[in-house]
Amino acid sequence: MADKKEDKEKGYSFRCMRCLGGRIFVPRGETTTHCPHCGQGWRITWVTPEVAKIRGRLVE
Ligand SMILES: [Zn+2]
Repeated sequence: MADKKEDKEKGYSFRCMRCLGGRIFVPRGETTTHCPHCGQGWRITWVTPEVAKIRGRLVE
């Protein structure tokens, strides 16, 4: 929680919808990311320049 402000300046982190085990950090502007906990890939959309949202699951 202490580093939340710092994170916000570089990207956005959200909870993985698959494993719910932890937060995924997405650098600003990235449109895909992978959960470091379960390996699931996610498509990302940026609602605002600071706030990202999961758009859907990445099928590989
Ligand atoms: Zn996960």
